[in-house]
Amino acid sequence: MNTATRLPAMFVSHGSPMLPLEPGTAAPMLQQLGAALPRPAAIVALSPHWMARAPLLGASAQPPTLHDFGGFDPALQELRYPAPGAPALAQRAADLLRTAGWTAGLDEHRGLDHGVWVPLRLMWPQADIAVVPLAMPWPLDAASAYRLGQALSPLADEGVLLLGSGSLTHNLREFQFGAAVDAAPEPYVLEFVAWMRAALARGDIATLLDYRHLAPHAQRAHPTDEHLLPLFWALGAAGGGARAEHKAGGVHYGSLSMDAWVFAPAAQEAARHDG
Ligand code: ZN
Repeated sequence: MNTATRLPAMFVSHGSPMLPLEPGTAAPMLQQLGAALPRPAAIVALSPHWMARAPLLGASAQPPTLHDFGGFDPALQELRYPAPGAPALAQRAADLLRTAGWTAGLDEHRGLDHGVWVPLRLMWPQADIAVVPLAMPWPLDAASAYRLGQALSPLADEGVLLLGSGSLTHNLREFQFGAAVDAAPEPYVLEFVAWMRAALARGDIATLLDYRHLAPHAQRAHPTDEHLLPLFWALGAAGGGARAEHKAGGVHYGSLSMDAWVFAPAAQEAARHDG
């Protein structure tokens, strides 16, 4: 019998690669969140900064830190997140995906892109929890991202944290380079964020998956939605009836909402009452 406690699934906004140097309101929130969560046995992390035709699992025993950005402060190049990999977990995740009908594969050399290591470095700075990166299959839509998460949901029963990393709003076409991290938020960003917060609080999955038609300013908040899809993946990974715990991260540079959610498993409440 598996004695591990089922872990919540999570969505975090990773923001700009500058987050380690410009912490704003989000970095302290992520640090507190990591300290408050149960320690995972391992982490499977989906980031839009790794895309492939089919879902791939990183199976390196020691994934390198990828500095997959340019034009930012050179000090970022010195940062490392030397967490170990977990090749056996990568294989297990690939097996689960194949069982659910996905064509899944392994990549034995893939490292951790900044969508993965920037938030993890804040949440678990010791870098002593194994991390398996997951490539986002592309093209992908909200419903498919949700199903991709559902396929991996059994891992949460084994103490694995399923972490979707993206951005609650992400319009780089309108991004003001040189804006202050604490610049006043754009009104359209606040409207979109308020809608998402309310729908997640209600647990209204059908409405969320149709956000592109229903949410205010959806196209403007996400001209392409690869940075929002990890949210739907995490919702699917959390399993039915999960309770969404919102973590306000503020809005960085006027347009990047840095909110996060912890999707706590419904079963845990029942287990507590039974116990
Ligand atoms: Zn990004």
